[in-house]
Amino acid sequence: MSMYLDYQAARPVDHRVFEAMKPYFFKDFGNPSSLHQYGFTATNMLDEARRDITKFINAPNPEDIIFTSGATESNNLAIIGGALRNQKKGNHVIISEIEHISILNIAKYLERLGFKVSRVPVDRFGIINLNKLERMITDKTILISISTASNEIGSLQPVESIAKLANEHEIWFHSDAVASEATIPIDVQKVPFDMLTISSNDIYGPRGIGALYLKKGVRVNPIIIGGGQEKGLRSGSENIPGIVGFAKAAEIMKREMEKEASRLKEFRDRLIREILKIPKSHLNGHPEIRTPDNANFRFDYIEGESLLLSLKDEKIAVASGSACSSKTLEPSHTLISCGLLHEEAHGSLLLTVGRFTEEKDINKIVEVLPGIIKRLRILSPLTPSDLLKQLQEEDN
Ligand code: PMP
Repeated sequence: MSMYLDYQAARPVDHRVFEAMKPYFFKDFGNPSSLHQYGFTATNMLDEARRDITKFINAPNPEDIIFTSGATESNNLAIIGGALRNQKKGNHVIISEIEHISILNIAKYLERLGFKVSRVPVDRFGIINLNKLERMITDKTILISISTASNEIGSLQPVESIAKLANEHEIWFHSDAVASEATIPIDVQKVPFDMLTISSNDIYGPRGIGALYLKKGVRVNPIIIGGGQEKGLRSGSENIPGIVGFAKAAEIMKREMEKEASRLKEFRDRLIREILKIPKSHLNGHPEIRTPDNANFRFDYIEGESLLLSLKDEKIAVASGSACSSKTLEPSHTLISCGLLHEEAHGSLLLTVGRFTEEKDINKIVEVLPGIIKRLRILSPLTPSDLLKQLQEEDN
């Protein structure tokens, strides 16, 4: 059996979620728009699911939740929809340099539409500088979008201070909470987000479903036009099985998060402790201000891809750099923003733990990794000759 330490890329659906979804594929398959019993059953379920998601983020009203097809679409609706809606007020949007690829590409799209986008830099731990953010604000700024956490290095952003700053300047603040929603509670009344992206799969629900929270009074233009579902903000027949699964996943996560996150934090801390014992290894991101499930390393003289493939041979599934762009072989934009050189940003190992990770998985990677790193260093043309000699001697 393969061992899975790549929860950031995809998560298995919790079997309790799957059981809750099942009737909505077969018996209760109706469309909420229909005026008959099947339609009413679907409408009731939709309302109930919306209430569960409302509770998950402590939103004031179920009407604040718009179901979408996932985090990418929620980000599009928030940022493109928000920018288009406000273009009479201004044409300037601020994001961070280390946003998820969906947001980076949305920003490029807005630039093609004529908007101006500023990208706030981060420090070497991947945390944004609030003073720099404040200095970027102009009287044309309409929207700030900064994720709660990096999906790659786990660094947590000071969202409470960003929300306060945005509020003072009467600028909307959107945050993609996907990378932290499984481990850090969300309370949109405590941290006054104007818009918040959440996704189902990242809390062990099905893929292809997500939501955008819109604070009362925050208006965006729809980006998907059609039959007017979701208050006209997201047309298309509702994905009822997906929505039911998302709601069940949220209900379970709300109940179990505290215990689960502390278990994951122990795994994460053990990974960090043990893996940093390997000579010339480094932790990417902040040692403490990071999500409890994320450990990201780099090892001098070693490329991420060769490490990934060696771990694959050991039947251990991990990621290198950004989960969504690791096939491009580009160095990670996040690590480059943290100030790393191209060759350093190529060599990372991203380990993310989750609900089904067990102690034996941690034992296994901690056991096999030092040997793999040593072998790869012996083969690497980048390894300096004195270290190479030492490694070869140890190997004999
Ligand atoms: N935002 C973040 C932070 C992500 O990690 C991801 C990918 N899991 C997305 C957005 C995009 O999610 P999806 O592919 O489900 O739309």
